Amino acid sequence: MASTRTSQKKMNRAERQRWLKPVVRRVRVLRETERKEDRRSTEDKVGGLKIIHFGGLGEVGRNMSAIQYDNEIILIDAGVRFGDEKMPGIDFIIPNASYLDDKKDMVKAMFFTHGHMDHIGALPFVLDKIGDPDFYAAPLTKAILMKRMDEFKDRGPVNINLIQPGDEIKISNKLSVKVLRINHSIPDDLEIIVKTPIGNIVHTSDFKFDDTPVNDKPADVEEMERMSREEGVLLLMSDSTGAENEGHSLSEQDITENLDKIFRESTGMLVLGTFASLINRVQQIITIAEKYGRKVVFDGYSMKTNVEICKKLGYLKMAKGTQIMMDEIDNYPRNKVVAVVTGAQGEGNAVLMRIANGEHKYVRILKHDTIVFSSSVIPGNEKDVQFLKDQLYRNGAKVLNYKMLDVHAGGHGNKEDLRRMLQLMKPKLFMPIHGQYSMMINHGLMAQEEGVEEKNIIIGDNGTVVHIEKDGWFFDRNKAPSDYVFVDGLGVGDIGNVVLRDRQVLAEDGFIVIVVLVDSSTHKVKTSPDIISRGFVYLKEHKDLLMQIRKKIRHIVEVQQMREPNAAYLKDQIRNQIGLFLFQKTERRPMVLPVLIEV
Ligand SMILES: [Zn+2]
Ligand SMILES: [Zn+2]
Repeated sequence: MASTRTSQKKMNRAERQRWLKPVVRRVRVLRETERKEDRRSTEDKVGGLKIIHFGGLGEVGRNMSAIQYDNEIILIDAGVRFGDEKMPGIDFIIPNASYLDDKKDMVKAMFFTHGHMDHIGALPFVLDKIGDPDFYAAPLTKAILMKRMDEFKDRGPVNINLIQPGDEIKISNKLSVKVLRINHSIPDDLEIIVKTPIGNIVHTSDFKFDDTPVNDKPADVEEMERMSREEGVLLLMSDSTGAENEGHSLSEQDITENLDKIFRESTGMLVLGTFASLINRVQQIITIAEKYGRKVVFDGYSMKTNVEICKKLGYLKMAKGTQIMMDEIDNYPRNKVVAVVTGAQGEGNAVLMRIANGEHKYVRILKHDTIVFSSSVIPGNEKDVQFLKDQLYRNGAKVLNYKMLDVHAGGHGNKEDLRRMLQLMKPKLFMPIHGQYSMMINHGLMAQEEGVEEKNIIIGDNGTVVHIEKDGWFFDRNKAPSDYVFVDGLGVGDIGNVVLRDRQVLAEDGFIVIVVLVDSSTHKVKTSPDIISRGFVYLKEHKDLLMQIRKKIRHIVEVQQMREPNAAYLKDQIRNQIGLFLFQKTERRPMVLPVLIEV
């Protein structure tokens, strides 16, 4: 008997330990190799050149970089990363710019590489963190940024200086910035070269090489070559998104041929689900639609806005009468219409899903219509995309998947493009940026093949402070803050890990509310405690459990009333003891919410 009791007690302690552990399931992220010679204390070092990334290293999205020389800072980009299924209710994550908290007056200038949300989307949210820099962007980037700022009127206004490829801007006596044209899936992409007293720092932006681009001129390869030959490149920071894909990225010529084939073979109405950020793809669709005499209609908020902005600035070329409005589609034969819409990732409320569900106001899918959307699915969206596909098939449509409609297809250089950049720049130091850790590592290996010494390859994390010297580099022993900053609706950063953990608990194990009436004179429980639960277990079928919970509550309150009664403490006791009890009984950890009412 005695031994069972001890083992029972022991088990309880072990269980209790387990129960007390926070419920957030985290994966430990290994940090950059902590080679001693690379990590130095810098108390004796004043000034010099430092690089800090506030996001975008070891992840795809929320790109933001800082280049500091002595007490002057230049920022590049401020992007968002969209939340995933591990972050219930989180709209997006933004770069953590807290490094600038005590350096706001050092921030001289901020450059934007291109108009994609993972590069500009966070500006409204970091504006109060970055001091008062001069802003620079190319025309299309500026227009999309202004639109973005418009959506957050309380956070503006910003004055953005227009720049063109080839411009060189003097920032101070020590620093100047030159911007060069580079190709991507959106026009006006800029490579950024920061010229410092100890050498040139090149930030490639998202890029690919395209000698026959659609909707854009080829990259300023000659100027890149000249600069690297005559001035040299001390540090190259290059986009790693495509570092694990063999060969060259899809040429726009191939993509045009593919699209042409789709148009040729499609029957009925053609619905193309794609991303609003792929402006060059939209241009190709327009051109081919004109060739086959189809009218084009756009739907989806971001799609319509981007098309309007690009038309206004001349970045989309379209014959008069090609574009029609949604309410006009019935005026044309079905096989003379192409609808270009958003929602290819199965997003619940997006246009493609509404069409598939028969909830779209104008577009009804009929037998023989052709639906085309991107073949690769962003992890986490698999079920939604499958559902979307099935719904479309149920409507009798022909469904085709194509990689070239993907958000990353064609926009980012594959291995051979990245290699070409390394060959062009011949940098002394190389730092892969923009990408998952594996992409950065593989990019680094490629740089070695291209002659960069292993010791000169910098694999960093968000928040690592990298000191760059004329002949080498090292990590600062101190890191800049790098925890996630969440944006939830319009609140920035007020969603800490606690709130996120609560949401995970609620999603996984539900909650239980316990309402206890306590007699204020006797401090005893009056009437039977009310117990309400959602998403936990169906209490009506667990009468035993209910009874036991009620008994436990009485007991907890009674033990308490012998001491000094304290409502907060009593609530904690109920939360902990009932929580532990429920875990023992059900192996679940619902959120326990005690409500004490003194009567
Ligand atoms: Zn991009
Ligand atoms: Zn990007």
